[in-house]
Amino acid sequence: MPAPVPPGGGGVLAAEVPAAPPFALGSFVVMVVDEITGYQRGILGGIEDELADTGTPVLVAVDHPRTGQDEDFLVRLLERGRVAALVVTAVQFKEIGRVLCSRAVALGLPVVTISRRLPGIVNVDADNATATRELMAHLLDECGVRRPALLRGVPDSPDSAVREEGFRRALAERGLEVDEDLVLEGSFRRELAHRAVTALLARRRDVDAVVATNDAMAHGAVDALRMAGLSVPGDVLVTGFDDVPAVRGPDLSLTTVDPRLDEQGRAAVRSLRAQAAGAGGTGDVRVPTTLVRRGSTRQAAAPGSVPVPAVGDVEAVARLDQDHLLEITRAFADCTSLEELVGELAAHVPRLGVRSCFLVLLQESPGGAPAARLALAYAGGAVSTEPVPFGHDELLPPGHLALLGGRAVMRTLATGACQHGYLLLEPGRGDRSRMLDLLQVDLTRALDALARERRLQQQAEELERVVALRTRQLEQEVAVRREAEAGLRRANAELERIALRDPLTGLANRRALDGALAGSWARAARAGEPLALAVCDVDHFKAYNDRYGHPAGDQCLRAVASALASVAVRPGDVSARHGGEEFAVLLPGTDEAGAAHVAGRLLAAVRALGLEHAGSAHATVSVSVGWSVLRPARGGRVEDLVDAADRALYRAKAAGRDRVAGPAEVHAPAR
Ligand code: GH3
Ligand code: MG
Ligand code: MG
Repeated sequence: MPAPVPPGGGGVLAAEVPAAPPFALGSFVVMVVDEITGYQRGILGGIEDELADTGTPVLVAVDHPRTGQDEDFLVRLLERGRVAALVVTAVQFKEIGRVLCSRAVALGLPVVTISRRLPGIVNVDADNATATRELMAHLLDECGVRRPALLRGVPDSPDSAVREEGFRRALAERGLEVDEDLVLEGSFRRELAHRAVTALLARRRDVDAVVATNDAMAHGAVDALRMAGLSVPGDVLVTGFDDVPAVRGPDLSLTTVDPRLDEQGRAAVRSLRAQAAGAGGTGDVRVPTTLVRRGSTRQAAAPGSVPVPAVGDVEAVARLDQDHLLEITRAFADCTSLEELVGELAAHVPRLGVRSCFLVLLQESPGGAPAARLALAYAGGAVSTEPVPFGHDELLPPGHLALLGGRAVMRTLATGACQHGYLLLEPGRGDRSRMLDLLQVDLTRALDALARERRLQQQAEELERVVALRTRQLEQEVAVRREAEAGLRRANAELERIALRDPLTGLANRRALDGALAGSWARAARAGEPLALAVCDVDHFKAYNDRYGHPAGDQCLRAVASALASVAVRPGDVSARHGGEEFAVLLPGTDEAGAAHVAGRLLAAVRALGLEHAGSAHATVSVSVGWSVLRPARGGRVEDLVDAADRALYRAKAAGRDRVAGPAEVHAPAR
């Protein structure tokens, strides 16, 4: 608690604040807390009760560091005039609390701090001075205490300072001296108090009471006294401060001061209303406390004056809630989609005694206008899980605020940098804060898990997209390469064809013939078969060219070529043009009789063309044919076959042309 108490308290009692009109319809009070413990719950209860008749909701905002644009939704709501007033209990501001507070002050909104002090802002607190005076009167006057020890709180705590001052003044007023050896440091912590009291008892045992400035230290003192063999309250009386239920011992009820947290909450609201109405009396408020006399000072307690809380009932309710909450925790943890989660929440909310409940999720809007979505609406027993989008600077979609009852609380659903949204609900009767805490934690955890899963999913999808894209690119590249390869093959084949074909006649050329000769020779050698070759030369072709012209000569060569090719059609036969007007026909597996026969048909085929050749003695175009047959298996070379055929051709020419010559005779068939 950073700032000291204003001197003399300076305020007025809550009861003196005049009644003021309710806050504007559709606005709400924001309570900024830095955590939610029994202390905040106590105050919240009072705030809610005081506001209940006017229908103004209370939004509990847990202060947290500002991490991004989405964090500002409360600030935006404040600037849109949705926030009627601010109650600050956060002791140390993180970012949001500071921003909210300074904006509220700048806009002239009513603001009240509780416990913490801020300059120029109304402060509500327990009347610690009076409380300590009553407590000390109880100890010194009713119980006859003479040598009380004091357990101080944290060094800069104004609460601790006021309580210590009251302790000293009470002793002084009774003419008792403060024994500084009995002033102990406990820093509000149970174990430090335990240690300090144990050390004290090792020095001396004449102490008759321990006045602790909070309950936790009082319990530490009780433990230390008992461990040292002393009885509480038999030997030493112990008192605490704050009446915190959580640290109430099981076997010892502590005399303490009830700071009337609910009354502090009520007083805060009354002050806010007075500020809003512009009425006077807006100074600091000190709320009267109640001294709760219990077993730790029982000696002097009047019979029947110890208020016993109905612990049993509270515990039964708590257990019931806990069973149900455990069920919710499990259900939420099992959810794999937002829809499921909303469905589970919708299913459980009615059983929690909640009267109305709205789940608002902030939407991711990179660069875009902030947006929100109502994911669950539950009011008056009707549930809707139909998503309703709406502007981010509204609390709820239009018309929905009216469905929210007068005791609405808000829980933000956020962890660290991730702001999921908020839960707005109107709890049923009783203190349901603990239930709401758990609901908030479970819901936040589930939303966290879904967000994480969504991120992973997005990453996986992105990877898949990249892989698919790369695959498509590769497939395209492969297709292009295949096409190129096919083109290359076609080009090569064409080249090959061009390389082995005679362009004028389309027959095999000289090169192809040489290859075919070598191949056929080797095959015939292996197979032990004969190989025949016939060579044909157009007769008097020079004269033909001279008379009919070169193009006609070409035409003639083409006709002769196709006539020759039409004769040699057996598989393996090769017709080739191996010189200007010279042709060759290779005939594998053909013996002398066959070769002579084919040679005769070659001659006849050219004659049959009947091409006029005036320069020839034969009147039409004719060829001379020489043939030869060898058996490669018997030895020799392929050149011998060619030479023999050439020699035969020479003889056919010499014998008068237009005839066939074999190795032995020349034959001139009749025309
Ligand atoms: P022979 O009966 O003794 O064979 O007489 P020839 O005139 O046919 O023989 P020669 O070797 O004297 O002449 C061959 C002629 O064939 C010479 C050449 O002009 C012609 N010739 C060679 N290649 C081609 C060609 O591709 N086209 C044409 N039009 N003529 C060709
Ligand atoms: Mg020739
Ligand atoms: Mg010739």
